[in-house]
Amino acid sequence: MSQTHKYIYLDHNSTTPMDSRVLEAMLPFLEVNFANPSSTHLFGQSVNEKVIQAREQIAYIINAEPNELIFTSGATEAINIAIKGVAESYSIKGNHIISVSTEHKAVLDTCKDLERKGYECTFLPVKSNGLIDIAELEKSIRPDTILVSVMFVNNETGVFQPIKEIAALVHEKGVLFMTDATQAVGKMEIDVVDLDIDLLCFSGHKMYAPKGIGALYIKQRGNKVKLTPQIHGGGHEQGLRSGTLNVPGIIALAKACEVASLEMGQNQQHIAQLRDFLEAELLKLPNTALNGSSKNRIFNTTNICFKGQDANVLIGRMKNIAVSNGSACSSAVVESSHVLKAMGINEEDAFASLRFSLGKYNTIEDIETVINRIKELTELNF
Ligand SMILES: *Cc1c(COP(=O)(O)O)cnc(C)c1O
Repeated sequence: MSQTHKYIYLDHNSTTPMDSRVLEAMLPFLEVNFANPSSTHLFGQSVNEKVIQAREQIAYIINAEPNELIFTSGATEAINIAIKGVAESYSIKGNHIISVSTEHKAVLDTCKDLERKGYECTFLPVKSNGLIDIAELEKSIRPDTILVSVMFVNNETGVFQPIKEIAALVHEKGVLFMTDATQAVGKMEIDVVDLDIDLLCFSGHKMYAPKGIGALYIKQRGNKVKLTPQIHGGGHEQGLRSGTLNVPGIIALAKACEVASLEMGQNQQHIAQLRDFLEAELLKLPNTALNGSSKNRIFNTTNICFKGQDANVLIGRMKNIAVSNGSACSSAVVESSHVLKAMGINEEDAFASLRFSLGKYNTIEDIETVINRIKELTELNF
């Protein structure tokens, strides 16, 4: 296994290290197999063959058809293409979009941009456990609602929403359903057919592939989802995402999907064990509390409030231990987490909370070191 560097890394929901097998798979496509897969010469077509195979492999991990996937630079771009694409394409039906207050900024800010352009958005509140109220969702769906977007797994708390139940309800009302599955794909089994999802996005760098590659699933079976293109150019990716394909990234994502499928069970078991141990030990400390549901939650994440502490100070003093305070994405401004605040956690407790997100290379020794370090730091009581 890789990861021999000096950091103890518990920030996998921000980004993951690359799996060495993924790196090995992509390297030839940076160097010898560099041709453009859109080129008609034999060289280009030989690379295109590999892209076709990769697309099949990537589609397989969510049980999609290869023609239902378009490649993007990551989840943020996929979300923009999906939400803006639906907004434009379905504007005859209406201009109302529903999402949730605990979504990633990529969703929230895309919706807010649409509000400036005359669309109406409803951001559903969540309960203190991080879950939405299904009855409230039902009430907020209107005749002019065109899209409901609810994330699969929350990146800050690990809480997952009942996606299948939500999709069924949304479809009963004749509305499209999208989910940001960036924290779910590669970690748990996802079947877009069984869950009945119209749009789903994910990202390579959250699943041991490199940064700069992601994918958007657009349902083409039965009721086809139609998006208005947001990026114009050579007409790549069915006209929805023009631009020369990121072949090394695509090959890497395919390998990451293959590895994730094969090793999902063992990773789940290994990481869950470490997370549960870390969480149990930290919650034994005085003045600590778990943020979010402990039941409806992914196995790699725990978000803990250390009452009276300043998470930023703790992070600084943890030196070679990499954890997050949930505001990494907007680190230019020090702002408390919008996710924790939406769960009713006050400003002070939000600033006192740390997110630990574990990955497959973490060891029990890593976890013991982290527990001891936090014990020392919280006992100091600055
Ligand atoms: C990381 C993340 C994103 C953004 O993904 P990028 O590929 O970095 O653009 C979106 N949603 C969730 C839930 C994430 O965790």
